[in-house]
Amino acid sequence: MTAGGRPYRGRFAPSPTGPLHAGSLVAALASWLDARAHGGQWLVRLEDVDLGRCVPGADQDILRQLAACGLHSDEPPVWQSRRGTLYQQALDGLTEAGLAYPCACTRKDIETAWAAQGLPHERHAERVYPGTCRPERGGLHGRPARAWRLHTGAVLQRLGWPAVTHWVDRRLGPQQQAVEQAVGDFVLRRADGLWAYQLAVVVDDALQGITDVVRGEDLCDNTARQTVLQGALGLATPRYLHTPLVRDAAGDKLSKQNGAPALDVGDPLACLNAAAVVLGLAPQAGPLPEALAHWTGEWRARWVRP
Ligand code: GLU
Repeated sequence: MTAGGRPYRGRFAPSPTGPLHAGSLVAALASWLDARAHGGQWLVRLEDVDLGRCVPGADQDILRQLAACGLHSDEPPVWQSRRGTLYQQALDGLTEAGLAYPCACTRKDIETAWAAQGLPHERHAERVYPGTCRPERGGLHGRPARAWRLHTGAVLQRLGWPAVTHWVDRRLGPQQQAVEQAVGDFVLRRADGLWAYQLAVVVDDALQGITDVVRGEDLCDNTARQTVLQGALGLATPRYLHTPLVRDAAGDKLSKQNGAPALDVGDPLACLNAAAVVLGLAPQAGPLPEALAHWTGEWRARWVRP
């Protein structure tokens, strides 16, 4: 059970852009341990909405690697690429409620709008959307719709929420972000027609009854956005725990983009031991089921409130 009284359901939600590496196994193991330590369910969801970045067969590689490590989804895995109708329903609901709107702006239009105001505002090299196509500012101005965006200002006003969204991470403690200022009206459906991660993850976490999200710390920055989107859709907000990242010798996060090698699950216990150490758990000699049971106990003692 969770604090809210809903039966615990957790998930691991890899993007199949390649096989698991040492960093992604940390999130997989942590989410599995948290589910087991709570006596709850653990689900695997393949987040393959960004088709251009997905690698054919990587989903099966990931499922095989997880299975080799003794991490089995309690329900058949789901693939986001098959769930477009659900995301469309959510977007339609937001649009009808005046909380999402179509946007005609190209990246260049956004640059130009900011330059005209003399207000450079960079964030992860991408500019905050200046709100050009907000309905109250004239909408599409006769141009064709490209992307769909969340009207963050309208959402906060409708919910009666303050400009700054506060939330408490189970590991990192109190967090805050002024979503409208820091991120702006973020994309729900991209100009190329693909579903944005933010919408897909929020819809799926809710439809799958996820009570606890356990994932890598690099995703922490998305949480306020997801909380606002949950509010807009009238959905419950799960609890969040962001795990430490595995870094390479240069201190960069291990990722497929910077060439992290695929996890060799020929020796699953060695892989899990490396992940466990990142999570502050004691290395185990095996066998695998005993190691997992031991870590579940350690995890329960540290992260599960009596
Ligand atoms: N699919 C995301 C990733 O692999 C994780 C999403 C999440 O856990 O919220 O980075």
